[in-house]
Amino acid sequence: MKILVIGKGGREHALAYACKRSALCDELICAPGNPGMAKIGECVNVKDNDVEGLVALAKERNVDLTIVGPEATLALGVVDALKKEGLKVFGPDKKATQVESSKDFAKKIMAKYNIPTAAYKTFYDLESAWAYVQEQGAPIVIKEDGLKAGKGVTVASTLEQAKEALDIAFAIENNSVVIEECLFGFEFSLICLVHNERVVPLEVAQDHKCVFDGDKGPNTGGMGSYSPVKKITSEIIDEAMNEIMKPMASAMVKEGVPFTGFLYGGLMLTEKGIKTIEFNARFGDPEAEVILPRLESDFIQAILDLMDNKPVELKWTDKVSHGVVLASTNYPASSTKGSLITGVDDVDGLVFHMGTKMTDEGLVTDGGRVLMVVTLEDDLQTAFDHTYKELEKIQCKDLFHRNDIGKKDM
Ligand code: AMP
Repeated sequence: MKILVIGKGGREHALAYACKRSALCDELICAPGNPGMAKIGECVNVKDNDVEGLVALAKERNVDLTIVGPEATLALGVVDALKKEGLKVFGPDKKATQVESSKDFAKKIMAKYNIPTAAYKTFYDLESAWAYVQEQGAPIVIKEDGLKAGKGVTVASTLEQAKEALDIAFAIENNSVVIEECLFGFEFSLICLVHNERVVPLEVAQDHKCVFDGDKGPNTGGMGSYSPVKKITSEIIDEAMNEIMKPMASAMVKEGVPFTGFLYGGLMLTEKGIKTIEFNARFGDPEAEVILPRLESDFIQAILDLMDNKPVELKWTDKVSHGVVLASTNYPASSTKGSLITGVDDVDGLVFHMGTKMTDEGLVTDGGRVLMVVTLEDDLQTAFDHTYKELEKIQCKDLFHRNDIGKKDM
């Protein structure tokens, strides 16, 4: 089969890696791809926001299956456009992508179908939002509507922080915010392969959202992850499937917005059971980089079987995968570009490219999150030690990383 992976980040590199390992994959095309993906497939320079160009590429190359990585591309309606041309694609259409692109849309469905989540209210102006926050008190969570690459959320521990977040949100015209009750508990990511009512869970991973050690500092796209997560037992996964993931897929069918693709549940194990923090319409990043390397069965076969309504069999290694993100010095506030990176080929493990570029001088930084180093070992402690040893081999004056990825679970 000819497989097209759309996107250029670490998640897409991991998706491409999983496709490449499939016995069904004869040809792997990446658009636009990145220097890491160029080592395993053919990168074609069509941008991931160029829907027309992507459809033209898939048609011209007779692609058998397209897998879409980024939420922004999904929100542009690339799946609708590919389907219109009779092309097979694994990803949600524009309407179903709202489960991520509009917090309000997701919250309304959760309320209607009794899917457990934090209590919330949506606001369209600063005055009433601020009045509500004062009434509720801190801690409180402020979420801007729309796609924010994981960065539009403020967990405010004081009223001042909440006010600041509201000021920033409403400085943008026509913006709205969802204000939520603050949940406390153990967070984990449960990503499922979904096709209409069919929901197949992948292995669980844990992301580390905050930029600094000890979960300090602002939220980022994610600074590292590991899989599996010891605390999340099969009973907990069953509960999450039965109370959250399956009901959501089924609710979307009932609402006339059936979902196909990776449905990501950002979940929290609280004292009052499992609650939904958010849904995403795509694979998690940095979850893809630790989950997919643990898959021993055929990734593409699983997607085809799911879409053909055949039984889906997934086989996973018992090994623990552990990954740490190397990010640009001032991330998430800003990112540096063009700093030389050396040593990537010396790493004994997997290196996923998140934001890099190949130049005449060599590999350089090209974004906020730059690389992710992943190792697989028999236990979390060994994988932790191995990842941190390996990433020392990567040299760049503008990169930093967290030092405690996975530590809380050891
Ligand atoms: P989101 O983009 O909705 O996943 O939010 C980013 C991060 O903010 C989550 O991964 C949580 O760590 C935190 N967060 C979001 N909503 C809540 C909530 N209601 N209570 C506590 N923490 C939250």
